[in-house]
Formats: sequence, C-alpha cells, structure tokens
Amino acid sequence: MRRRQEPARPSQFLRALARGPIARPVVHESGQWRTYDSCGADTNSDNPILMMRSSSFPAVFVVASALACAPAAGPAVTTTSTPVMGRTASADTIPASVRWYRASAEQRAIYLQTYRLATAALERRAAGLASGSWAVILDADETVLDNSPYQQDVSRRRAVFDSATWNAWVRRGAARALPGAPEFTRRAHELGGRVVIVTNRDDALCEATRANLQRVAIAVDAVLCKTDPSNSYKDVRFEAVAAGTPPSTLPPLRVVMWVGDNIQDFPRLRQDIRTASDSAFAEFGDRFIVLPNPMYGSWERNVLP
Ligand SMILES: [Mg+2]
Repeated sequence: MRRRQEPARPSQFLRALARGPIARPVVHESGQWRTYDSCGADTNSDNPILMMRSSSFPAVFVVASALACAPAAGPAVTTTSTPVMGRTASADTIPASVRWYRASAEQRAIYLQTYRLATAALERRAAGLASGSWAVILDADETVLDNSPYQQDVSRRRAVFDSATWNAWVRRGAARALPGAPEFTRRAHELGGRVVIVTNRDDALCEATRANLQRVAIAVDAVLCKTDPSNSYKDVRFEAVAAGTPPSTLPPLRVVMWVGDNIQDFPRLRQDIRTASDSAFAEFGDRFIVLPNPMYGSWERNVLP
C-alpha cells in the first residue's frame, strides 16, 4: 500500500532544479522500484515534482530544469578538485548507497555490532520465559539476506527493476547472509525462542526464500510471505504470529523482538514517526532493532525538510 505524498512546495521544486548531474540509482521498496534520470530526478509517476511539471508549473521551469541538468559546453577547465559528499569519483552507474552497502567496512561493522547488541537484548528479554513460548520476528531482505549484488547488477546495466529479473534472482537463492544474522538466529534457538521471518516477498517466492535461508544457515521456524499484493504492511501477519492463526503455522507466541531495515518492519510504525519526540523511539535498541539500508525503503517518499 502506498501513501500519497503531500504536493511539493515551489521552493522544493527550485532546489531540485539546482541539483547537478548524478549517477542513476535504481532502488526498490517492498518489491516496488523507483528510477531516477541522469539529473537525479525521480521519474516515477507519483513524484510530486513530476506531477507539478505536468500540471501547475509553466513550461519555462521545465526548460530551466533541462538546462540546469545539461553538462556545460566548451573546453574543459582545470580546477582544484573538491570532494563532493555522496558522489563517487568514477562516472560509473553504481550509486553511492549501493557502493557503501557492497564495499564498506562500516556496513559490516554496523551489522555485526547491531546483531551483537540485539543478542544481548534478546538474552535479557527472554530471561525466565518458557522454551517454545516466545518468538523473534525478522524481516528478510537487507535484514538477514543481502540482495545488494542484484542492486549492483541492475545499476550497472542502467536497467530498471522488473519482476522477471527480481524473481530470477530470488529463485537462484544466491543471496548471502548478512553479517551476524546466522549467529543471532542460532542464539535465539539456543535460548528457547522461535524465529519467524515476515517478508514482503511474494508468496510465490516463499519456497525459494526458505531454501536460500537454509543454505546460508539462517535458522527459521516459519517464513510468512506477502499474500495480499495490495497490502505491504505487516501488522496482520505480526498479529497472526502472536495469535497462532493462519498464515502462521506455529502455536501462539509472545513476540519479544522485531528486527528490520524498514520502519514498517515494526508493529504499527510508519515514516511519520521521524518527526515525533525521541521518546517515540524508546523501544529501539531493546524490543525493536533496526538495521541500515541506504539503498531503498519507505523513506524514499518522504519530503525533505
Ligand atoms: Mg527489508
């Protein structure tokens, strides 16, 4: 389910015009991908800037946008090189977000660090609970399974997401485990917990997902994929795990922890929490454990402050 964005204000539109050319990232969220043109402009139909271009803004702004994006004509001018944050030195098509995820020490450190802290929190939260009576719920993509090779391949081909290539990637079962995830799930079992994966992968891909998880030693008791294409929220499935009702195949379980890379991987949380007080985030680091995903997510639809 996709929420409508608020219309962009004119000041946002003008800031968009001032952006220079950047690489063309290709990102997806809950199976839905977004594309950007060579100026970094969101080319998707629900982009409020595009909507304004096509409706309320005069043609002069569209022309100005094209000029702002075009490379400067004339001979090259030698200048002192100044690093630009968020851009890579090469002119390839791999976005900085994918490069960070695929090839940074920080990515591995953060995953290992987070899963170690999550394990300590789980040991506290599960203390005294009867074996088999409780569960931890984890998301799959970019939480326990690493799909960044697919992201890199799509970007390198200057392609856009399509379900055929995504389904082929999932069916290959080639996603590796993210650092710390196998150890975390194994420890959850040692403590007497059940491990449930709640993912927005289509139900038709669920068997391939289970096989991939098993291949990379992610210990799971159940995998609940998305059966309702119109609803990407996971709350109904979270409640089914707690109640022991379909699509869960397990008995009722007390869910002591959620782990995910998207705010919607946590019960009833949405992007609007980002402007709430710090106290709204009090459960993060204890009952809720969030991992980084700069490549895609429900945050892409947020309006910049
Ligand atoms: Mg995910």
